[in-house]
Amino acid sequence: MNIKKIILSQKIISRKIIAKLKLFDRKTADINEKISQERDIIEYDFSNIDNIDSFTDVIHKIKHHGDKKRCKLCKLINAEMLEDSNLNEKEDDLLPRFGNLISILEENAAYERSNVERKRMPSQNDLTRWALKDAVLAYYQGLNMPHDMPIVLNRFDDRLITELAPNFENISNIWLQKLDELRRKNDKYMLTMDEYDKAESDLSEEMRGSAFEKQLDRYREDFMKQLMR
Ligand SMILES: [Zn+2]
Repeated sequence: MNIKKIILSQKIISRKIIAKLKLFDRKTADINEKISQERDIIEYDFSNIDNIDSFTDVIHKIKHHGDKKRCKLCKLINAEMLEDSNLNEKEDDLLPRFGNLISILEENAAYERSNVERKRMPSQNDLTRWALKDAVLAYYQGLNMPHDMPIVLNRFDDRLITELAPNFENISNIWLQKLDELRRKNDKYMLTMDEYDKAESDLSEEMRGSAFEKQLDRYREDFMKQLMR
């Protein structure tokens, strides 16, 4: 449950109540009292409030009467909040997790590996693509995030949360290392010196807008699509 959200929505509710009360032609003492209560809530400094109980303490003191433990209005607030947070949790259950991301990346890297293994003469493209998928997998494995952590903010947003945005420089370094390994091979997995040089100069010239960055971006779009299905 996010207390900051709750405080914010309480202040919005208070503003709406004031706006409604102001519509009355005749301001009875009762109406004026209610308006001033809502104002007190809007102006209250909630910065030290970090849990529901101290939040309802404030609301109770301003608006309710009598013993807080027996206050029906406070109970109502609590029930509403519980319902809200249950809804949020259900929504959270549907979000892809870090563990799902790792499995998809593992599958993709394994697919490229078997593709290269199956071919008698894999192309240079096959090799660099395999290296890219391996590099992305290694990068995310290296982040060591909890596997149950949601990786997007909601189901309609396929952007990774900030902590998981692919770090172009780190991934390209891992990728180059893998290409360097392939360059030293003596079999069908061998990357030509030309291809290696091409990759290296692509990266060293202009980081942004390089062919590698485009490739990485395309791959990110692909695996996000796989994840959001
Ligand atoms: Zn109360």
